[in-house]
Amino acid sequence: MTANLSFGTLLSQGVLRLRVSAMAEGPAPTLSLDAELLLAHAFGTSRARLRSHPEEMGDAAKAKRYAQLIERRAAGEPLAYIIGRKDFWSLRLAVSPAVLVPRPETELLVERALALRVEEFGQVVDLGTGSGAIALALASERAEWQVTATDVSDEALEIASANAEALDLRQVRFLQGSWFEPLAGRTFDLILSNPPYIALTDPALKDPALQREPQIALTPGADAMGCLRDIILSAPDYLERDGWLLLEHGADQAEEVARALVARGLRHVRSHRDLAGHERMTEAQRA
Ligand code: SAM
Ligand code: GLN
Repeated sequence: MTANLSFGTLLSQGVLRLRVSAMAEGPAPTLSLDAELLLAHAFGTSRARLRSHPEEMGDAAKAKRYAQLIERRAAGEPLAYIIGRKDFWSLRLAVSPAVLVPRPETELLVERALALRVEEFGQVVDLGTGSGAIALALASERAEWQVTATDVSDEALEIASANAEALDLRQVRFLQGSWFEPLAGRTFDLILSNPPYIALTDPALKDPALQREPQIALTPGADAMGCLRDIILSAPDYLERDGWLLLEHGADQAEEVARALVARGLRHVRSHRDLAGHERMTEAQRA
């Protein structure tokens, strides 16, 4: 990058660098947003300040740091891992390569949970909580709910509980174990999960951005339905009467998930579309 270190120049140089890299390929608005977030991160300032002071000169050490961040992004590292955070729902979550970067479509699960009739002091569990996204979003909206969050990954649970503390959502309880294993003998009004649902053989997994995320968060192995089916089979044993199960799944899995839910005796089975128009989640109620 050249010697002119004004915010405006640094920003356009960053966008240019990202545009020529094959890895960070994306539409222009995303590239300039990425460059802006990286510049704000390197200079410890806000995007608003960068925008209102494009002529301001930055110091060389920070400009160098910015150039390094741009190179990481150009090599395909997800932006959220570089800046160490991701916004989800109304929350700012810390993330690391130990957790999936929370996706906007997962907010649909939160939306549906809030729309259902759940009793005031409802028992709620988020299976495979990762960064804590779903559990913490619900806890932030319903202070009375008793929210439990589980994960098989200790590293993920560390991030999730640090997020709970930082957001002052200390009522959320975290438990380690595989799916329902740490919940023996308990029942819930609401069970939610965004489990891994991409088949190991799916070419989508080869995406350079997905390759940086924990594979245990993305793929159940050969069978894309593996985790979804395990959860569906056990869920009724852990649901209160009239309790709800809400599952995120792949864009082409709604039918199979619905069939499995009906086969397991659940009712009011209904899928919902995300903003991209894909049937992204399915809900069902214990009779
Ligand atoms: N809930 C987070 C979100 O929506 O951003 C993370 C979802 S990520 C797709 C799936 C999560 O399930 C990962 O955090 C992973 O560690 C966890 N996981 C994978 N296998 C598991 C298992 N057998 N039992 C519990 N959690 C598991
Ligand atoms: N929605 C994520 C993706 O397609 C996958 C998350 C998951 O497997 N649960 O990148």
